[in-house]
Amino acid sequence: MEKTLVLIKPDGVERGLVGQILSVYERKCLRICKMKLIQADENLAKKHYEEHKDKPFFKELVDYLVSGKLVAMIIEGESAISIVRKENGDKDPLKADCATIRGMYANSRTKNLVHASDSLEAAKREISLWFPEV
Ligand code: ADP
Ligand code: MG
Repeated sequence: MEKTLVLIKPDGVERGLVGQILSVYERKCLRICKMKLIQADENLAKKHYEEHKDKPFFKELVDYLVSGKLVAMIIEGESAISIVRKENGDKDPLKADCATIRGMYANSRTKNLVHASDSLEAAKREISLWFPEV
């Protein structure tokens, strides 16, 4: 079964949206295999977002990811990678469908509540980064 790495970023925890967000994945028959509430350090945040290291918003992004506790989880299920990204919605608040997590709850280009791996390779890399014991 396909696995993906999902983060409920600090704004999701701070705003009390963890339950709402988890229920979106669960109602889609996806299963939570591993989950933890942690505060990421800068090193982990930079590694996680290393593909964006040359973007102008990189520092803002890393600062945001370490700004509070977040929920990291491994989600498993049929087509988990694409289904979770579809449920998360577009990162642009003007483009996100209203039925998606970002469409319903986010209105910022940086603070957009959730992260999910975008490919099999990314899922493998991110799972070993956040859950090195797996
Ligand atoms: P996604 O999270 O949908 O995979 P990206 O990988 O393109 O999107 O971007 C990673 C994260 O960087 C986004 O979720 C968002 O928090 C932030 N981000 C992306 N683009 C911008 C931008 N233009 N300005 C500020 N933050 C951005
Ligand atoms: Mg991405």
